[in-house]
Amino acid sequence: MFETLQDRLGSILNGLTGRGALSEADVSAALREVRRALLEADVALEVVRAFTEAVREKAVGAEILKSIKPGQMVVKIVHDELVAMLGSEGVAIDLNAPAPVVVMMVGLQGSGKTTTTGKIANRLATRDKKKVLMASLDTRRPAAQEQLRQLGVQTGIDTLPVVAGQSPTDIAARAVQAAKLGGHDVVILDTAGRTHIDEPLMMEMAEIKRKSNPHEILLVADALTGQDAVNLARNFDERVGITGLVLTRMDGDGRGGAALSMRAVTGKPIKLIGTGEKMGELEEFHPRRVADRILG
Ligand code: GDP
Repeated sequence: MFETLQDRLGSILNGLTGRGALSEADVSAALREVRRALLEADVALEVVRAFTEAVREKAVGAEILKSIKPGQMVVKIVHDELVAMLGSEGVAIDLNAPAPVVVMMVGLQGSGKTTTTGKIANRLATRDKKKVLMASLDTRRPAAQEQLRQLGVQTGIDTLPVVAGQSPTDIAARAVQAAKLGGHDVVILDTAGRTHIDEPLMMEMAEIKRKSNPHEILLVADALTGQDAVNLARNFDERVGITGLVLTRMDGDGRGGAALSMRAVTGKPIKLIGTGEKMGELEEFHPRRVADRILG
């Protein structure tokens, strides 16, 4: 188990009297612990720096309240700032566009994109009573197309039949056309990933976007991503332009610092989190819970 931030700050700050204001020196000592806690939670270094500066500004000179200990006060300032930076809770997938609304899923291979495509489709179908079509644009791995087809069979959601030899952009255009003809409300495009970001991947994503005019572009990322989170989120946002984030494997035992890194770098909302392999294991994002977890 990690020592909580409260414990660490207690020993540094609780020697202070319950009077006066937090000094620059108190705050600097506290921020070293905050920095350690955030790095242990896998928050990316550049985000840790920006975050601790924001906390420094709020904390230096803050009156120490009589009712709480200085350590608790710093923890509260840190916690509030984390919640603010993590963004709002319950930001829904925006379907406010003429049908069929196109939702494009992007991310690295293995991030949970196909599973999340199935989960989101299932949620829109069962909760919101939408007619959904899923299409796999991964022409490099036939197994990916088969995986999506099986999820369709399992959930009872339509999948676009596979036509051999088509390019990802051809499939995207065909999916939109099929959704129009089929009276679908939403079409979800499950794009191909790579093991790492490269130029061909970004060009393919941009081309699919141009052809299918998605209303939502959701970056699916593993919550256990460490220092790469910033690079990943920044690249997809700058090159493709994402509208939101979905973090998978929040059921894992990591502390989910990637949530803060990706949100801080893109400013885009974390719309949903994946909490398991099953289709029902998709939840709303609660910034307070994630802040608690990051602080340990
Ligand atoms: P893709 O390559 O991005 O399409 O990734 P997949 O959807 O195939 O997922 C890769 C693996 O991660 C599969 O074994 C999934 O069952 C698993 N997975 C996806 N989302 C979650 C999640 O939220 N929690 C857990 N524990 N496993 C997940």
